[in-house]
Amino acid sequence: MLVGVPKEIKTHEYRVGLVPAAVRELVAHGHRVLVQTGAGAGIGCGDEVYIQAGAEIADDAAQVFAAAHMIVKVKEPQPAEYSLLRPGQVLFTYLHLAPDPGQTRALLESGCTAIAYETVTDGQGGLPLLAPMSEVAGRMAAQVGAHCLEKEQGGAGILLGGVPGVAPGHVVVLGGGVVGSNAARLALGLGARVTILDKSLPRLRHLDEAFGGRILTRYATLDAIETLVPQADLLVGAVLIPGAAAPRLVSAEMVAAMRPGSVIVDVAIDQGGCIATSRPTSHAQPTYVQSGVVHYCVTNMPGAVARTSAFALGHATLPFVLALADKGWARALAEDPHLKAGLNIHSGNVTHEAVARDLGLGY
Ligand code: NAD
Repeated sequence: MLVGVPKEIKTHEYRVGLVPAAVRELVAHGHRVLVQTGAGAGIGCGDEVYIQAGAEIADDAAQVFAAAHMIVKVKEPQPAEYSLLRPGQVLFTYLHLAPDPGQTRALLESGCTAIAYETVTDGQGGLPLLAPMSEVAGRMAAQVGAHCLEKEQGGAGILLGGVPGVAPGHVVVLGGGVVGSNAARLALGLGARVTILDKSLPRLRHLDEAFGGRILTRYATLDAIETLVPQADLLVGAVLIPGAAAPRLVSAEMVAAMRPGSVIVDVAIDQGGCIATSRPTSHAQPTYVQSGVVHYCVTNMPGAVARTSAFALGHATLPFVLALADKGWARALAEDPHLKAGLNIHSGNVTHEAVARDLGLGY
C-alpha cells in the first residue's frame, strides 16, 4: 500500500501523522510511504531523516493526496484539503465530526473512508488514541501551573515543592482519570501536596493504590469541592463525561473564595471546562486573571510540546496503521471491533451511531 503523509496546515499544528520510526516499520512491512516535504520540520525531523527511514518525499500536498491509498494525519482535514480527498481513499486522523457539520459534508462528498482516532476503542472501555494526548496534557498541567504560580505570571509567588521549613503548595485535581493522574504524578514529583477528587470509587481506590498513599483522595461531593477549592494553590480541572459537555463543578463563588494569585488549569476546557470562570485560551495568550485567580485554559495543550506529542501519538497509532496497510481497511476493521469503532464515514454515509445522532443525521 502507498501511505501518504501531508504536512499539517491547521494553525499552530506542528505534529505530523507518521514519525520516521513508523515510516521504517511500514517500509519493513513492504509498503511505500510518501511524505510531503517539511512535514516533520515542526518536530525536528527533516526530509533527510524520513528518507533515511525509507520514505519518498513529495513536493506538495496535492501529490501526496493524488498518489496515496491511505492518508495518515493528525488534525481533521482543512477546507483546502477537502477537494484533494478521493473516493475509496482511507483517511486516518483525528476528526471530531460531531460539532463540525461542514467538515462532515465535505468528507461525505469526497467518497473517502474516514477512520477517526478519537472513536477507536480498547478492551478496557478506553480510547487508546486519545489517551496519549491526555497523558501529555495532564503532565503539562502541573508544569504550567507551577510556572503560573510565579510572581511575574500574576501568581502568588509560591514554589510548589516548598523548601525545608516552608510548606509545599497544595494541588487539587478534579477528576482522577488519565489527565488527573498524570497531573498528580508530576505535581508529586515537584514535591507538592496533592488531593484528587473523583466520583468513581473504583478510580479512587486505584489511585490510592497506584500512588502508595502519597496523595489524598476525596469523593467528589459538592461539600468536598467547596471545602478543597479555596485551599488550592493550583486547581486542575480534569473531569470527563464521555461524549458530553464537562460538568460545571466549580462555581464563580468558589473561585472568588480562592486566595489571590492561586492558579486554575482547566484541562477540560476542550469540552467546555469544569470551572464556571473558564473560557478557552490559546498558546499565543494562554492566561487571564479573573477574581484574582490566574486561569490557564488552552484547548490544545499538547501542541506546545509537539515533538513529545507526535511521538506519543505515533506509538499509539502505529499498530492500527500497520493493520490497515497490511490487511486493507475492510479486513482490518472486520477483524478488530475496536478499530471498527473508529469508522465514521464510508462511501458517502456517516457510519458511527453517536456521531450521526449528534449531527442530527440518520444512521
Ligand atoms: P478520563 O475519562 O480518563 O477521566 C475523567 C475522570 O473524570 C474520570 O475518572 C471520571 O470518573 C471523572 N469524573 C466524571 N465526572 C465527574 C464529576 N462530576 N466529579 C468528579 N469526577 C468526575 O478523561 P481524561 O482523558 O483524563 O480527560 C479529561 C479531560 O481533559 C477531557 O475533557 C479531555 O477532553 C481533556 N483534554 C484536554 C486537553 C487539552 O489540550 N486541553 C488535552 C487532552 C485531554
